Amino acid sequence: MISDIRYWEKKAKEGHYAIPHFNVWNAEMLMGVIDAAEELRAPIIISFGTGFVGNTSFEDYCYMMESMAKRATVPVILHWDHGRNMTILQNAINHKMNSVMRDASALPYEENVAEIKRCVDFFHTYNIPVEAELGHVGNETIYEEALADYEYTNPEVAKDFVERTGCDSLAVAIGNVHGVYSSEPKLAFDILEKVAKAVDVPLVLHGASGIGDEDIKKAISLGISKINIHTELCQAAMEAINLHKDKPYLALQREVRKAIKERAMSKIVLFGTNGRADE
Ligand SMILES: [Zn+2]
Repeated sequence: MISDIRYWEKKAKEGHYAIPHFNVWNAEMLMGVIDAAEELRAPIIISFGTGFVGNTSFEDYCYMMESMAKRATVPVILHWDHGRNMTILQNAINHKMNSVMRDASALPYEENVAEIKRCVDFFHTYNIPVEAELGHVGNETIYEEALADYEYTNPEVAKDFVERTGCDSLAVAIGNVHGVYSSEPKLAFDILEKVAKAVDVPLVLHGASGIGDEDIKKAISLGISKINIHTELCQAAMEAINLHKDKPYLALQREVRKAIKERAMSKIVLFGTNGRADE
């Protein structure tokens, strides 16, 4: 069933677990994560973004996302990730998405505030919640280089940011980056703790693939309510492809779907979301 991200983020925040956000852009990823959610009775977010349009036509794929979300017996949210401008987000909600992220985190603070406020004012008239980002989670690069001039979320301004923008959830930059970590991630839990104290909205962790289980649990205990996973789904798919490369394509595709299901299940259990769909 299609569900509301605000309801589940609030439940997760109160219950000290996190809703998994899975980026999906082909049939086996989409089917794999839905299989996992069904088996473990977990609410999940399925998400698309501009980074995938070179692989998959969103305007067609959105119908499969919506159809599977509707037919699922667990709550599913349809989300657009890292929206770069209003036109892209407008297109996303015209094509079935019921939750959006507007990422203006590369802009200077006041411009980020102004842009998110504009988005919130617009999308709330359609009852669409908006996630924003404060600080800047960088793209995949050498991890040490990313950390050298990393823009951490500033807890001193987080309250001001949330109050002035009216954003529904907030992605934090605490040493997390997108893609594969070239060395062990170092999360700044002190910053997370301060941000969690400063604001009431649910907090989001991007770039969570490759972050160790203990750090994920700690992040959840300190207030993270939504966790984004993409890279690990791709890695699970690649492992299955390497392992079963001699099989016919039809059989290989089923192995990929299964591998994605299993990786998604391990994240659902780690995030504490299993069994929550029926609560
Ligand atoms: Zn992200």
